[in-house]
Amino acid sequence: MQFKIKSMNINRIVAPLFLVLVVALNTSCNNGQNTATSIAVSIQPQKYIVQQLIGDKVPVHVLIPQGSSPATYSPSPMQIKNLSQSKIYLRIGHIGFEQAWTGRISEINPDLKIIDTSVGIPFIVGDDHVHGDHVHKGGVDPHVWTSPKSMLTVLKNTQEALLLNFPEYKADIIANGQLLEQKVSALDAEFAAKCQSFENKRFYIFHPAYTYLAKDYGLEQISIEHKGKEPSAQWLRKLIDNGRKQNIKAIFIQEEFDKRNAEILSSELNIPTVQVNPLSEEWDKEMRETLIKLENALR
Ligand SMILES: [Zn+2]
Repeated sequence: MQFKIKSMNINRIVAPLFLVLVVALNTSCNNGQNTATSIAVSIQPQKYIVQQLIGDKVPVHVLIPQGSSPATYSPSPMQIKNLSQSKIYLRIGHIGFEQAWTGRISEINPDLKIIDTSVGIPFIVGDDHVHGDHVHKGGVDPHVWTSPKSMLTVLKNTQEALLLNFPEYKADIIANGQLLEQKVSALDAEFAAKCQSFENKRFYIFHPAYTYLAKDYGLEQISIEHKGKEPSAQWLRKLIDNGRKQNIKAIFIQEEFDKRNAEILSSELNIPTVQVNPLSEEWDKEMRETLIKLENALR
C-alpha cells in the first residue's frame, strides 16, 4: 500500500518532467525536419514535376538558378543553410552540381532527406562523357530530363517521395500523378512517332543536353563541345566537312553556353542556330517546342 502511494508520488513528479523533456526535444528538432515544409530540387524542370503533383501547397526551391550551368554552379553558403527549411531534396541524379555539393549539403543539414529521382533509368554511360569544364571518365550522362521517356521514371520516383513525406496530400498527389503520367506518356508517344518519320536523324548541338532524347527516339546528337571543352580548330573543321556531307540543317544552342563556336559553324554551313532551353521551368511547353524545332531541322 505504502509502495503504491510512493510510486504515484514519483509519477506526479516524473510525468511533468518527462513532458517538459519531450517538448524541449521537439523544439530542438524543429530547426531540423519538424518545421521543415518546403521541397528543394536541383533544376527548374523538376519544379514543374513537383508542382504538377502537389500543387502550390508546398513551396519548391530550385538550387540552380535560371541561366546557370548545372555542371558547374556553386551554391551560396546561405542557400546551403536555407536547405534546413526543406523536408526533402530531390536530386535529378548525376549533374556536376550534385556530384560536387551533395556531401556538403547533407553534412550541414543532417535531417534533410536526399532522394535521387533518376533511379531506374537505363543510364547512358559515355566513355568520354563530358560536363562543363571537366570530363567524367566512364561517367553517367546526367541529361535524363530532356527525354519524356526518362522523365516518366523521374515522375514515378518524385511521386513516391512526395507520398512518403507529404502523406497529408496523398489524394491530390495520386490524382495529379495519374493526369501527369498521361500527359508525359502522350508526349513520349508523340516524340516516338514524329522522330521516326524524320528523314535526317542527325543534329548538331553545342552542349550535349539531348543524349537521352536522341537515344530514346532514334536520333543522333553531335556536340560541338568536344570532350567537355571548347572545340579545337581541328574538331570545328571536321564538323564543317561532315555537316556539308551529312546535310545538317540546324545547330541547337542553349543560353548557358558560349555561342561563338556555334555561330562560326552556322555561318560556314549557312544553317541557322536554334535556341532551346532544356532547363526551362515550363518543361511541358519546352519539350513541345523542342519537338517542333527538331521537326523543322530534321524532316
Ligand atoms: Zn549538361
